[in-house]
Amino acid sequence: MSAELLAAGRVLLTGRGRRRFLSGHPWIYADDVQAIDAEPGDLVSVHAPDQSVLGWALFSSHSRIALRLVSRGKVAPDRDFWLARARAAVLHRRDLGLCGERDACRLIGGEADGFPGLIVDRYADALVLQSGCQGSDRLRDLWLACLEEALERPAASVLDRSDSATRSHEDLPERVEWLRGERSAPVEVLEPARPGVAPLAYEVALLTGHKTGHYLDQRENRAAAARFARDGRVLDAFSYDGLFGIRAALAGARSVLCLDQSQEALERARRNAERNGVAERVSVERANAMHDLRARAERGESYELVIVDPPAFARGRRELEGALRGYHELNRRAVSLVSAGGVLVSASCSHNVGRDDFVGALAAASRDAERDARLFCLAGAAPDHPVLAGLPESEYLKCAFLRL
Ligand code: SAH
Repeated sequence: MSAELLAAGRVLLTGRGRRRFLSGHPWIYADDVQAIDAEPGDLVSVHAPDQSVLGWALFSSHSRIALRLVSRGKVAPDRDFWLARARAAVLHRRDLGLCGERDACRLIGGEADGFPGLIVDRYADALVLQSGCQGSDRLRDLWLACLEEALERPAASVLDRSDSATRSHEDLPERVEWLRGERSAPVEVLEPARPGVAPLAYEVALLTGHKTGHYLDQRENRAAAARFARDGRVLDAFSYDGLFGIRAALAGARSVLCLDQSQEALERARRNAERNGVAERVSVERANAMHDLRARAERGESYELVIVDPPAFARGRRELEGALRGYHELNRRAVSLVSAGGVLVSASCSHNVGRDDFVGALAAASRDAERDARLFCLAGAAPDHPVLAGLPESEYLKCAFLRL
């Protein structure tokens, strides 16, 4: 495919748009564009007010984010350009040791890997992708072909699970489509053993699981949390498929309770516990964790390790205040449930709640519970989920480790 075919259309920025482009932020808002000659989703050349070419971007006709930067400079991106990006993304995961045949990882994480709007996760021999903008929809097939060329093994199954409600911001319908190798059985993943970390087997429901089927971003935090389980009691609240708890059981925990409101997730957690040979020490309970944690705290229960990993409380900036109240209240209950000298692992995946805000909510929670909490690690997502340094918006996961 030639460069001419890939790049179609041009966009002229305002002076402010030009300054924003040069500042390094990869998004240009619609207000900073003065003229457009492009179709929705086009790869466009981006011009300064004096018509000089600044670079290349994906154009969205509908979103507030009109342009997502692809590259700077005059040279139009062609197929080799995308293949090089795909190779770089795969190399990063290979360096991390995440490319084993039965393992899982995020192969492409949107802007941070140079593919604006695209997520691709690999679960053993299956790829699941999510496209989030008009440009990533248009380039999906080319990008996928480049990624598969960069991978050592072709995938047996490829599923496009572009079913996020945020696609409406781009005037795109939700879409779920097998591109190859349709299957109904779950995929089995095996995280191999590492020094000090046991192997871990789990299943992924590609079609019905959350996100692309699983929460890959918590992988390292699960392994880190398990070190504090010792032979104690563990409460894994908002457990999804149970992997924080199962990791803790593999590390020696005496008993693990997984709480979630989703029956389907808990059934998976139960099967995962069996797969890993820890079923007799792992129980699951369907409950609203917000209420259940309060009831347990009132009953005076205590655990050596408590994990709370709720869904995002703030979907937008306007919800920030309510979200902070939510984290404060949830963590007050969680702190009360940790035994003296025990550990609380508390996560927030709200984009709009910053690290400082989250730590503030944890401080307020421990104060209200009349406990001293010592923050000894504030981790993020696993390293196959990089954050673009110039795009702080792409950082979302905070995982705090506190000794009580
Ligand atoms: N800890 C998990 C990820 C959790 S995602 C992991 O390591 O993979 C958030 C989970 O919270 C989802 O499984 C969702 O079903 C559950 N959830 C959402 N609201 C809940 C509530 N009020 N009570 C219990 N579970 C809830």
